[in-house]
Amino acid sequence: MIKLYNSYSRELEEFIPLKSREVSMYTCGPTVYSKVHIGNLRTAVFSDIVARTLKFNGYYVKNVVNITDVGHLTSDADLGEDKVEMAARQLGKSASEITKFYTDYYLDSIKKLNVLMPWKLTKATEYIKEQQFLIKVLLEKGIAYQTEDGIYFNISKYPNYFKLSNQDPKKIDRARIEENSNKLNPHDFALWKFSKSSEKRLQEFDSPWGRGFPGWHIECSAMALKELGDTIDLHLGGEDLKMTHHPNEIAQSECVTGEKFVNYWMHASFLNLNSEKMSKSKGNVTLLEDLTEGEVSPLAVRYYFLTSTYRNPMNFTDEGFAAANNALKRAYDFVAGLKVDDSYKYDEVFTERFQKALNSDFNTPAALGIFWEVVTSALPETIKLNTLIKMDEVLGLGLINYVGYDIPVAVLDLAKLRWEYKRQGIYDKADFMRREIEKLGFEVLDQKDTYQLKKVFK
Ligand code: AMP
Ligand code: ZN
Repeated sequence: MIKLYNSYSRELEEFIPLKSREVSMYTCGPTVYSKVHIGNLRTAVFSDIVARTLKFNGYYVKNVVNITDVGHLTSDADLGEDKVEMAARQLGKSASEITKFYTDYYLDSIKKLNVLMPWKLTKATEYIKEQQFLIKVLLEKGIAYQTEDGIYFNISKYPNYFKLSNQDPKKIDRARIEENSNKLNPHDFALWKFSKSSEKRLQEFDSPWGRGFPGWHIECSAMALKELGDTIDLHLGGEDLKMTHHPNEIAQSECVTGEKFVNYWMHASFLNLNSEKMSKSKGNVTLLEDLTEGEVSPLAVRYYFLTSTYRNPMNFTDEGFAAANNALKRAYDFVAGLKVDDSYKYDEVFTERFQKALNSDFNTPAALGIFWEVVTSALPETIKLNTLIKMDEVLGLGLINYVGYDIPVAVLDLAKLRWEYKRQGIYDKADFMRREIEKLGFEVLDQKDTYQLKKVFK
């Protein structure tokens, strides 16, 4: 049984998916106008842990992650500039050059963190028709209205609007929201914005109501409803999205379909720096590349995230990160001293405890604790290794790449011969030998006066 904290009910609940062996899951991904920072990546790793845990429990996981490549404005009041347009203007590039570069950067970062590719990665600009269809239905139902600068959702038509954010609308700071005088209610939000006649946007689209671009929130409803259906099991994102983005997604989706949009909402707490949210707009960001110079593996960052439960804010410190890096190195050194066998036999008692920890609201620190208990346990070595590798199906630390192995005699002989050719300066023959060694699944790493052979794991 999986128990998880549902941010909508604010209770720990038993997870019961709509289908018995399949889970539908949607995670709000990055806005691709700048490099993702390790705060964004904390949420990405959390989403990966949820997907991997569900797979570990035997579910087929249909998870969608979106790429916001249009419509995310710099102000929550539906004013300000589109973040992608702003970056393109500042750097003198086209919008597609910007979104491609930062999408690739994001994909490269998550790959380095062993985040599995989602079932579908969807881009907002590829769902313009679907977004317009939702807006059309909302207009027809009298839930949306048109002003001179766009089409807005009228939140007075959706009574549960403040349920997820748990806010008292009378108490929250309205000043920022009321800046936009086109709205009927301060919390109404844009579904479509018209291009200004005075300027030419880089990304704009025809619509029945006028040329323009979609509001940020409608993209997620369009992609989730199209790919996963009217009701989905799980919806994830960072905790900032609990206030505006996710309430908007719920309101517009439910008003279109008349069905419950999401059964379980989960929000990852922030990664902070000096107790302040890491964010591009504050300028206090750390990138993956800042932490992984030299010998440090990006997976040390993943390990670091796993040392905290996702509902706890994490304050990034150099000491905490160094400790995670050391722990990961110890794990790699430990498995390097063991050899894989073909039995795949693992210890069921430890594995069940491990699974139970993850099934208790994705308690990764407890799961890591059980991992280290296995290391120091009295289990026979092969079972120990197989158990750790089994656990790594969820932890995703890439242990298999560090496991000890025997090097076949043929490889040893080829490597010796290659070294001789190299010493004598017969480089074409030495290169030929290197390629032969690679065909046998090993690589040669040359050092000053010697060389090393390493198995290549695919
Ligand atoms: P954005 O690119 O700002 O749309 O954010 C992409 C994802 O990262 C969203 O799910 C955000 O909630 C999340 N996120 C942004 N900043 C942080 C942070 N400091 N810690 C954790 N998650 C974050
Ligand atoms: Zn979203």
